[in-house]
Amino acid sequence: MKTIHCPICQNPKFYNSNCPNEICKKCVGRATDGHGRYVRFHNRTISTGCIAFYLDADGKEEYCSTLCYVSKQKCRAKADKFGGVVIELLHLKDKNG
Ligand SMILES: [Zn+2]
Repeated sequence: MKTIHCPICQNPKFYNSNCPNEICKKCVGRATDGHGRYVRFHNRTISTGCIAFYLDADGKEEYCSTLCYVSKQKCRAKADKFGGVVIELLHLKDKNG
């Protein structure tokens, strides 16, 4: 498998052709909302897409967005075609927009 570097922390990770800007598992664990609260994304069981909950609310409070922040960089969660949820960095530093 091809190995690349996480776009946020630069740790080596496996390349995901479905999601080239995917962040590593370690960064996924640091994902927060815009106010710094930790969020965790899951697959929806029936429909496609993903759902998120606040970690500090014991899975009882839904986070109604797919956007999250890791190291103050905007990321987005989406359902991986192989199952599970991937989080990708939305804006790379060396690109516009
Ligand atoms: Zn990382």
